[in-house]
Amino acid sequence: MEGALTARDRVGVQDAVLLENHTSEAAFLENLRKRFRENLIYTYIGSVLVSVNPYRDLEIYSKQQMERYKGVNFYEVPPHIYAISDNAFRSMRSERRDQCILISGESGSGKTEASKKILQYLAITSPSSDRVHIVRDRLLQSNPVLEAFGNAKTLRNDNSSRFGKYMDIQFDYKGAPVGGHILNYLLEKSRVVHQNHGERNFHIFYQLLEGGEDEVLRHMGLDRNPQNYKYLIKGQCSRVSSINDKNEWKIVRNALRVISFSDEDVEALLGVVASVLHLGNVQYTEDEQGHAKIAGDAQIRYLARLLAVSVTQLQESLTHKKIIAKGEELVSPLSVDQAAYARDALAKAVYERTFSWLVSRINESLANEDTQQKSVIGLLDIYGFEVFQQNSFEQFCINYCNEKLQQLFIELTLKSEQEEYESEGIEWEPVQYFNNKIICDLVEEKFKGIISILDEECLRPGDATDLTFLEKLEKTVGEHPHFLTHKLADQKTRKTMAREEFRLQHYAGEVNYNVTGFLDKNNDLLFRNLKEAMAGAENAILKQCFQRSELVDKKRPETAATQFKGSLAQLMEILMSKEPSYVRCIKPNDAKQPNKFDDVLIRHQVKYLGLMENLRVRRAGFAYRRKYDAFLNRYKSLCPETWPTWRGPEVEGVKRLVKHLNYRPEEFKMGRSKIFIRFPKTLFATEDAFEK
Ligand code: ATP
Ligand code: MG
Repeated sequence: MEGALTARDRVGVQDAVLLENHTSEAAFLENLRKRFRENLIYTYIGSVLVSVNPYRDLEIYSKQQMERYKGVNFYEVPPHIYAISDNAFRSMRSERRDQCILISGESGSGKTEASKKILQYLAITSPSSDRVHIVRDRLLQSNPVLEAFGNAKTLRNDNSSRFGKYMDIQFDYKGAPVGGHILNYLLEKSRVVHQNHGERNFHIFYQLLEGGEDEVLRHMGLDRNPQNYKYLIKGQCSRVSSINDKNEWKIVRNALRVISFSDEDVEALLGVVASVLHLGNVQYTEDEQGHAKIAGDAQIRYLARLLAVSVTQLQESLTHKKIIAKGEELVSPLSVDQAAYARDALAKAVYERTFSWLVSRINESLANEDTQQKSVIGLLDIYGFEVFQQNSFEQFCINYCNEKLQQLFIELTLKSEQEEYESEGIEWEPVQYFNNKIICDLVEEKFKGIISILDEECLRPGDATDLTFLEKLEKTVGEHPHFLTHKLADQKTRKTMAREEFRLQHYAGEVNYNVTGFLDKNNDLLFRNLKEAMAGAENAILKQCFQRSELVDKKRPETAATQFKGSLAQLMEILMSKEPSYVRCIKPNDAKQPNKFDDVLIRHQVKYLGLMENLRVRRAGFAYRRKYDAFLNRYKSLCPETWPTWRGPEVEGVKRLVKHLNYRPEEFKMGRSKIFIRFPKTLFATEDAFEK
């Protein structure tokens, strides 16, 4: 039949382990491309779901589609995010084991969309009751609120999440959602005061200006034009064609109601948002002594009113710095530059803490008081590996986080693969893989790791600078095979690095980090008198965000990197205690356009998502495995002895079936509950017979 394409030729295979040439990256990519062309954006590698962002709305997320996946075995339906969701849900119920779904991929690859689809699936298909309705709505509505405050337009994604998010969805014994809990990680707060060209501040600012009622804006002293706010004009891009801020505002306002925010909560919250805008417009001039003086008092008056702080305290704290030395308070005036720095630090701190407050308020509203044992599905939507022209402290933290997740992925996939063979009583050969623990250690090891060295420099009184930090790194970890600096590099490599950079050889590739700003960002200091002013504010949110106890506490607060390291360690523990599923998202092109499959870009992602390695591990033993009952059910019509029904033990039925199909002994193995098939072609032959 020359010219005729089989379905497999046209749309590829739905599980990459079935590819004939499974070690070939080209074959893997070709398969993804074929499927993408047919709008089949999902492909499995065993039980891992690979998703390629279609950049267009596909009609595969309807209620009917959800029904199609409900309670159905993974392999009997085309790959889908709903299949992953349903599988996790059913494992949770049948095995009584907590689940988690880890979604990874670079910015714009579709992680957040995937996590929303999972949440929708779980919320909509689960059994319902009045109480469930409330929880379900709150779970769903937490998204628009967090996105308004935590997402922004970047060059890579018009709705980029600028924080990491882990969300637990709790279910009762009937499988109905009864509560939830969110953990947030490392909000990119520098965005509050600065945006790169073509990028925006967090959505909420524009939403408020566009959508806020006249009266509300007047009361807060705001006008509608974003151009009038210093914190909104850095990126020169306040309008984005794909975003309707006015509409979003309505959605957010409604969502806040659903999550049961009172009018006072909302007023306090918007007061903080408006205050940040006013803070940005606080300008300084120099007085006769060369000290900073606030120019004009319009902003200060609005700030004082919105935050409920005294005008004089605010003025004083925005132009002076207070330190306590040997039990005595020392107040000194700031220069114009220092004052601008203090103002920006305040804006960032206020916004960041308000974001955390928001998360804890949402958690209160999702909390389930019932102490009965609950089962949980966790969803992790966290920033992917990042490499820019210039990489700083933020990228360092984000990429460290990805190293940790990769380590978890390797450990768990290998471990679970090994465990499965063991529990099924099947022999297999372990596969070699790169263990990135060595890089995790380089970053996080106590006393010797990069974070420890950074902290040491941050705590060292005197002349510590970003450059002394770099020197110390050279002395301490200079010999490490995954570490390099300009000074340590050979002639040729030196040309690819700046003097202020160190390079880490991550599992996903090498990244140069510029140390400028590392100490400052890690210290994350806010002058004492600004903290005092905020702790004295009557604004209900600030009151909770800045507590007096913080001022009395003599202990130095943990540095940003150490805090992050701690919260990652906790996250790893949470994830380790659950059974994981994986969604690996791929971005098809940089133009945010449908139908464009950029080979170079995708190959790069396949590499650093470790997909080929994943495939190798999965194929090391057997390409395919299936529970006896599922296998029998699907293929029983191929054998007269098992058709139409087989009444004996399922394993016996399968034995008769494969005997009838002439499977050779080297082609398969019978485990305790599953049949394992070594080569894809065996399965294809069976599938083909089945389709005829
Ligand atoms: P970031 O790391 O920047 O937060 P992300 O991986 O969360 O990125 P998303 O915000 O989920 O990326 O996706 C970016 C955009 O891609 C979405 O706004 C949407 O336009 C489109 N998109 C993603 N997934 C899908 C999908 N399954 N169907 C249709 N469009 C999608
Ligand atoms: Mg996102």
